[in-house]
Amino acid sequence: MRPEHVGPTRKPMPLWLFTSTRWTAPRPVSAFVIEHRDGVVLFDTGQDRTSVTDPRYFPGRLDRLVNSRIARFDIPPDQTLTAGLIRLGYRLGDVETAVISHLHPDHIGGLPLLAHASIVVSRDEWAGLERRRPEARGLYRKHIDLPGLRWNRIGYEPLAEPRLEPFSHGYDLFGDRSVLLLPTLGHTPGSLSMLVRRPGKASLLLVGDLTYDEALLASGQPSGMCDRKQTRVTMQQVNKLRAALRDLVILPSHDPGAAERLAAAM
Ligand SMILES: [Zn+2]
Repeated sequence: MRPEHVGPTRKPMPLWLFTSTRWTAPRPVSAFVIEHRDGVVLFDTGQDRTSVTDPRYFPGRLDRLVNSRIARFDIPPDQTLTAGLIRLGYRLGDVETAVISHLHPDHIGGLPLLAHASIVVSRDEWAGLERRRPEARGLYRKHIDLPGLRWNRIGYEPLAEPRLEPFSHGYDLFGDRSVLLLPTLGHTPGSLSMLVRRPGKASLLLVGDLTYDEALLASGQPSGMCDRKQTRVTMQQVNKLRAALRDLVILPSHDPGAAERLAAAM
């Protein structure tokens, strides 16, 4: 990634996108597997390896240029979603639900493999596809709205759980309060996070691309690719939740420290 993308930066996105000459050290494109007694859930599905093997993955020349400036992907065959699941002892067919934090290409890449699963996305995120020129906002309908996929476009309901304030609304994935989807807008207008609560262990908050770095989130500093005003508001909410739940483990999708924090919390 570009360091300006991780942030913080004062430069507007189009400026750093076309002038930055630097790259960060490699960062992960994470997909998380949640084992619940009622089924296996994915949180995000990674970047499709086809995007690095097929030059026409991104449809137009401008899309190819912009995407090549945003990030460079290295996706060896043993780093695909399928290979990662097998390493954990699962097959694609075991995945019953895939929750998508937002619809950018590095989170929706596994969709062609998930026709058997229920795909959960927020209604507000889906609405971004219906607005003018979704490609300019990184949404590629031909890789998202695939024939045969079972989309569950969710809205949020009152949580009525004071401990979770300032999150008054969420979506209870299994109806048992163990996996809650929370609106965490800012990176995109419909981004969501997943709160995983485990008996006797620290809770996990999978925040997608709200931040790329836990420390930047803690200090309330938005990344270089988001609605900064909205992101600051959301970061405050997440930091309040972290203060309330104390041992909450924050897991951003592209944070190089996330895997280690997750392993320590297992
Ligand atoms: Zn991402």
